[in-house]
Amino acid sequence: MSAMDQTAAAILAAVPCHPVPPLGSSPAIDALRDASAGHGLAIGRDGVMLILRRPWLEVDALIAPPLAAHVPYGDVGGSRATLRCGVIPRECLDWIVASFVEALPDEAAALVIWNERDRRFTVEFPEIDEATPSRLVYRPPVLGPDRHLVLDAHSHGRGAAFFSGTDDADDVHATKIALVVGRLGHPDGPVMASRLCAGGMFLPLPRSPFAGDPDA
Ligand SMILES: [Zn+2]
Repeated sequence: MSAMDQTAAAILAAVPCHPVPPLGSSPAIDALRDASAGHGLAIGRDGVMLILRRPWLEVDALIAPPLAAHVPYGDVGGSRATLRCGVIPRECLDWIVASFVEALPDEAAALVIWNERDRRFTVEFPEIDEATPSRLVYRPPVLGPDRHLVLDAHSHGRGAAFFSGTDDADDVHATKIALVVGRLGHPDGPVMASRLCAGGMFLPLPRSPFAGDPDA
């Protein structure tokens, strides 16, 4: 094999693509689903499934419609997202919102880190390069092998909670839950927007990632 062939083979091996057998799964697809980390594709007659895994997360996301051509494949099934780490303790959210109120009128940021070894969550505050009421620049955390960024939260101060173009650009390469908190300090309380960033996509969260929420 030439060096270029070897590079191409390594790239393809890193993101494998497997057809779904007519009935059920295959060892290769099971290995993708059971992996601690990685991603790949399963192709069925009902569509193409991105199977993405992190120690804290399982995502199966349909990324293409059913195949128009007749193929002898089985079904990939429905999209789903599961937190392997479990829901985030309610106190983490309370602490994050309190710290954002304290930072008013400036925007602020906070991170929820999950330790794979002791399965504990911690709230940490990133290094801030610049914070104003309308602009925030902070550095992604440097994490050891057992520590995983689960949730990346930032505030929009007293403004609305939505994902801006800057937020989209920041989040597109990440695998994390992103949370924006706005309307801080308002008598009616804060408002929030959240999404799951995975595979270069922004996916709606099927339910709240926080313990104690009615839909958690
Ligand atoms: Zn933002």
